[in-house]
Amino acid sequence: MQKPLENILLQIQTLGDPSRSMCVFDLDSTLFDVSPRIQKILDDYSQIPVHQQRFAENVQILQTVKTQKTDWGIKNALLRAGLDSAHPEFFESIRAFWAERFFSNEYLVYDQPFDGAVEFVQKLVQLKTKIVYLSGRDEIRMGLGTRKVLRKWGFPVEGAAEVALKASHGYPDDLFKSEWFAKNAKMFQPVWFFENEPVNIELVRRDHPQVQIIFFDSTHSGKAARPLDLPAIMHFLLDEV
Ligand SMILES: [Mg+2]
Repeated sequence: MQKPLENILLQIQTLGDPSRSMCVFDLDSTLFDVSPRIQKILDDYSQIPVHQQRFAENVQILQTVKTQKTDWGIKNALLRAGLDSAHPEFFESIRAFWAERFFSNEYLVYDQPFDGAVEFVQKLVQLKTKIVYLSGRDEIRMGLGTRKVLRKWGFPVEGAAEVALKASHGYPDDLFKSEWFAKNAKMFQPVWFFENEPVNIELVRRDHPQVQIIFFDSTHSGKAARPLDLPAIMHFLLDEV
């Protein structure tokens, strides 16, 4: 049976100089379940009087929406509740409300780590591996909230780990990440990369075949097929030996 996490820990323990190894983690939908963030945004939308007046019927339905870990954006959650695209004005209003908040410091605090994520990263720090959080989030809108939510849950930050975000938004995630590896991964061996988005995985594995990628099977954009030949995990819980 494949045990990617246990194998990584074992490999690091056999290294002469573990500080030359590196584990790189994506954040959204890899270390963190973002569905509580989406839920909070939808809840807040439905509490605003002007929305209640303008879209009375839809807002009533919206109050029944429950987001799921497998949701990508807000569309699926709304469709499940019966809010289809027959109401374009409502959809445009809620989409804009969501976009303004999803990519903001303020709402990141609602994210919750996937099972075992905090403990796994802490274990890696004890083993002296370099830890990097590599995310398509940008410093301007999300830098402070990112560090705050990492600290809130006990993920190592400041000194023990590096946060690598885009300087500002608008640049494609896959290029940002591949270029980050080009600049920063040369001095490290082995390098592992945990990522849920197949688009990012495709480019990084093409440009950096030495990077060992672990597919985090949560949810993704659907813009590229999920990798079938990579180790895949759905949580960070370790088998007790
Ligand atoms: Mg992600």
